[in-house]
Amino acid sequence: MFTKILIANRGEIACRIIKTARAMGISTVAVYSDADKDSLHVNMADEAVYLGPSPSRESYLLGDKVVDAAKQTGAQAIHTGYGFLSENADFCRRCEQENICFIGPPVSAIEAMGSKSAAKTIMEKANVPLVPGYHGDDQSDAIIKKAADDMGYPVLLKAAAGGGGKGMRQVWSADEFAEGLAAAKREARSSFGDDIMLVEKYLTQPRHVEIQVFCDSHGNAVYLFERDCSVQRRHQKIIEEAPAFGMSESLRQQMGEAAIKAAKAIGYCGAGTVEFLLDVDGSFYFMEMNTRLQVEHPVTEMITGEDLVEWQLRVAFGESLPKQQYELAIHGHAFEARIYAEDANNDFLPATGLLEFMQTPEQNKFVRVDTGVRQGDEVSVYYDPMIAKLIVWGETRQKALQRLSKALAAFRISGVTTNIEFLYNLSTCEPFIREEIDTGFIDKNQDQLF
Ligand code: ADP
Repeated sequence: MFTKILIANRGEIACRIIKTARAMGISTVAVYSDADKDSLHVNMADEAVYLGPSPSRESYLLGDKVVDAAKQTGAQAIHTGYGFLSENADFCRRCEQENICFIGPPVSAIEAMGSKSAAKTIMEKANVPLVPGYHGDDQSDAIIKKAADDMGYPVLLKAAAGGGGKGMRQVWSADEFAEGLAAAKREARSSFGDDIMLVEKYLTQPRHVEIQVFCDSHGNAVYLFERDCSVQRRHQKIIEEAPAFGMSESLRQQMGEAAIKAAKAIGYCGAGTVEFLLDVDGSFYFMEMNTRLQVEHPVTEMITGEDLVEWQLRVAFGESLPKQQYELAIHGHAFEARIYAEDANNDFLPATGLLEFMQTPEQNKFVRVDTGVRQGDEVSVYYDPMIAKLIVWGETRQKALQRLSKALAAFRISGVTTNIEFLYNLSTCEPFIREEIDTGFIDKNQDQLF
């Protein structure tokens, strides 16, 4: 096994990776910016290397500096977590050139999934079901409009280079199309520097169900079941659960096998997530594949009893997958709630400030808190304002849900505005308990949530 790895990230995910590395007897190197010089991840790692000023462009996004830090400390591999450099093909290539193991898929797989259009073209060839739509190279307005007209409204325009819920626009009728397309292209250009668009049928009541896959370098592949991430705001996930409620065994298997087909189509290796939209009639459609560890991976860990970071490290080192499909099973139900420094009553405006007091619920085998901050730390303007992830497990969905609301009520944070009350309202509201959930959940239940 590796003896030393570098973690090119910060916050809760850096701490999460360090924990597993430490348990496996692997030394860890943290990297940090000015704002993070006294942070938890730096504290937890065996060594730490300074990258630069607080803005991520001047620190965490500097691939060359990260590679230099690995060389300087003798780290054999780099784990990029999620965000920052995690899906950056140039960085992955640079690691390969320097003979440092990139803990993730090969460059070619990152590149193949880097554009939503190109990804759909590959999946179409591999016979993975797609959301009906147009994702061709001919980008003339007339061609895109014709595709929308033929398919019928509403449609969703998406930036091929989009991500994080940005660069999407619904169009409800042919009259609005020209204006919608122009605005979507403008947005895409300014956010991603690229205005290649695709258009999809807009499903009005879908669920977001994603499959965790794992592949090794010996041709083995398994799926670790699904996560339901339908509770979203502006296409960003708020609460995730595993397994997805109401899934028949046959649908689970079909989606799992489609996800493996998708991974194999791009010669995948490591941890990946294949995102699908699940329609009310049980049809499912490929949306995109994320070529990294997801924020919400802990719910999968809770229901399978597996450590996904350990799997990543083993596979990256060249070992075979720790388990085969028949050895994997779902036990109970898990939820994850993302605790953010933000004001739910003011359009979820990000909040900053000093965490004057922070007490997390007691952790045990049912309740897990993944965090990268402690009392006395500052939530700064520089990074994603996530304070912690609360993950709970129960024998049934109902039991897990009770634990979720109880644990949310036990959180004490002062000094910074948080979304905890909003999450509590969500976890206790009747439609959520009754599984009346699709991606429009937050909009539909405003009166009970705020
Ligand atoms: P991003 O990469 O920005 O996260 P995705 O393509 O993964 O974008 O989509 C994010 C979310 O947007 C989905 O989880 C879903 O809620 C919504 N969405 C995407 N495509 C469609 C569609 N064709 N119809 C309805 N909702 C969609």
